[in-house]
Amino acid sequence: MEPDRRRSARVDPGAGRRRGGVLFDAVLLDRDGTLIEDVPYNGDPEKVRPMPGARAALDRLRTAGLRLGVVTNQSGLARGLFTAAQLAAVHARVEELLGPFDSWRVCPHDDDAGCPCRKPAPGLVHAAAADLGTTAGRCVLVGDIGRDMAAALAAGATGILVPTPVTRGEEVAAAPYVAATLPTAVEEILRRQAAVTPARPRRGGTVLLVRADSAGDVLVTGPAVRAVAAHAERVLLLCGPRGREAARLLPGVDEIVEWPLEWIDPDPAPVQPRRVEALLRRLTALAVDEAVIFTSFHQSPLPLALLLRLAGVPRVSGISDDYPGSLLDVRHRVPPGVPEPERALSLAAAAGYALPAPDQPRLRLRRDAVPPPPPGLDEPGYLVLHPGSSATSRACPPELAARIVGVLAGAGHRVVVTGGPDERELTASVAAAGGVDLGGRTGLAELAGIIANAGALVVGNTGPAHLAAALGVPVVSLFAPTVPFGQWGPYRVPAVRLGDADAPCRDTRATRCPVAGHPCLAGLDPGAVLAAVRLLGVPPVAGRSTAAARAVVPAGGGGGR
Ligand SMILES: [Zn+2]
Repeated sequence: MEPDRRRSARVDPGAGRRRGGVLFDAVLLDRDGTLIEDVPYNGDPEKVRPMPGARAALDRLRTAGLRLGVVTNQSGLARGLFTAAQLAAVHARVEELLGPFDSWRVCPHDDDAGCPCRKPAPGLVHAAAADLGTTAGRCVLVGDIGRDMAAALAAGATGILVPTPVTRGEEVAAAPYVAATLPTAVEEILRRQAAVTPARPRRGGTVLLVRADSAGDVLVTGPAVRAVAAHAERVLLLCGPRGREAARLLPGVDEIVEWPLEWIDPDPAPVQPRRVEALLRRLTALAVDEAVIFTSFHQSPLPLALLLRLAGVPRVSGISDDYPGSLLDVRHRVPPGVPEPERALSLAAAAGYALPAPDQPRLRLRRDAVPPPPPGLDEPGYLVLHPGSSATSRACPPELAARIVGVLAGAGHRVVVTGGPDERELTASVAAAGGVDLGGRTGLAELAGIIANAGALVVGNTGPAHLAAALGVPVVSLFAPTVPFGQWGPYRVPAVRLGDADAPCRDTRATRCPVAGHPCLAGLDPGAVLAAVRLLGVPPVAGRSTAAARAVVPAGGGGGR
């Protein structure tokens, strides 16, 4: 990849955190079809035509303190369709029309060169981020095709697709976020940035946070928990039994209050007056100064807000499109499509709490809560396949999981198969294809210890995907589209999305697959998983047979999912 040294600015690495916001330092833009009209293999500056509204939109980003980079595939160079001098003239014309960019990164190679920079590879994104004194995780990439989104994801950056008439339908369906135009993409970037900054910052006393769902839900709330904890005397986290193990892994939690909430739990018990009265007594006894109720976009904070009111909690914050009457003091609203961690961070901000500057808005775990991996897995770089899920609609079909293990092992990877205590049969049959079976032998913390040493995790949309994100381990996401990928995909960690994004189960929120044959994942080619592992830069472990890894002595324990 070639930086244009004449243009790439020297940038102060700390500047973004001071000038920019909590979320982003820089916006990277694809060139053809995003900044300017796509004229194939153009070497003529006279043919440069900006996309509508581009100049004003870019100036808004510049004014907001965000740095700008261009990341563009120009295989016309490799094919001799234009010269480097012509390309430079085109880029000079682009800057004349659209203003200066702080970094230009160009891949001059053809598809068959196997270079690390041609999108969908993440090389250009990493290089541009480095030019701009930041990391890919703190960048947004705006582009018009699937390759741009894949490169953004593979780098751990935020992707926004602005389709043109030539963008394919499946690329639109798979994108983490879709904006109609470049100006609306810019509007969304600035809105998200502003949404995590409190208008009125405050110091908290004892704050009760609530996230009453599964492990994954608790993990994605982590950045918001840390935001509150940074400015409060004491933080209590109310979670359900399914979320307790995850709550113990979160930095910033002083005390866990476990209680299943009948209006949140996916398999709820009937409402019993005795139980509700007991919860009310418990909430009253906590004597907290305020409460912040975190929910998913399909859950309501209002039943608990009523109980908190009855328990005398003086200040209650929550996200509610439904009219809350006097149940909420801070009623926050979030448009669809925002990643869950940012959605929660925006509620924390609405309640008065922001992440302090050195803390990054990514998922994190308490270091002291993650044990080392079991003996035999001390050499890092293996792949972990977690075929199950708390919801069967989001699980990898067992037969496919076995074929994936076979393909990965055949390519020289060590593969470890993990699963919960009720998934032992599943993991045994999957691991038989060439992996090590650790099914049913890890709690969530032990599972985190195993994932921490992995080169990548292959998993559906379920809790362990968020564990990997929190550990900075790349994810091959076998994503059933029952909920939006942009909201629930692995956050700020290198990832590849696989599976049919436009399958009939899309946006159904179904916990059991509503379509015969589970087509969103069943049709997946195991070779695509191997290609994804390569795109994420995970090499096979040379000289280590799986027999060595089979010598693993698993620790006891119950439950990760
Ligand atoms: Zn290249």
